[in-house]
Amino acid sequence: MIVDEKRYDDIIREVLEMKTRTTSKPCHEYRRIRRYGVISVDGVQELIEPINGSQKTETRFFVHNQQVFEILAKAHSETGHEGVHRMHNNLKTHYPNITREVIQLYLSCCNTCVEKNPILKEAQL
Ligand SMILES: [Zn+2]
Repeated sequence: MIVDEKRYDDIIREVLEMKTRTTSKPCHEYRRIRRYGVISVDGVQELIEPINGSQKTETRFFVHNQQVFEILAKAHSETGHEGVHRMHNNLKTHYPNITREVIQLYLSCCNTCVEKNPILKEAQL
């Protein structure tokens, strides 16, 4: 799920607040803490997947809806108009909440891809 910037900041605040609180927490708060981590990148707080000590994978960032377009545009132009599957395979290693549906939606707005792909062209109508 991709949230807007305001909701994103709210989640960061909640996660930080919950992590520092020492009193007992309701179950749904535990679930949220397990789902998110917060790190600071160049002074900006970002939501990430919790870092699992034994895992050697890259940090995955949750994105909010103001970031998605930029990320998709960059990934899409750098790879020379890749299709949904390849974009999704690349992006999911960095951004856990960029779904195939979001990419599909982005591609349906890319004129170059729409011209090449009649299925997208239909979806655009
Ligand atoms: Zn394209």
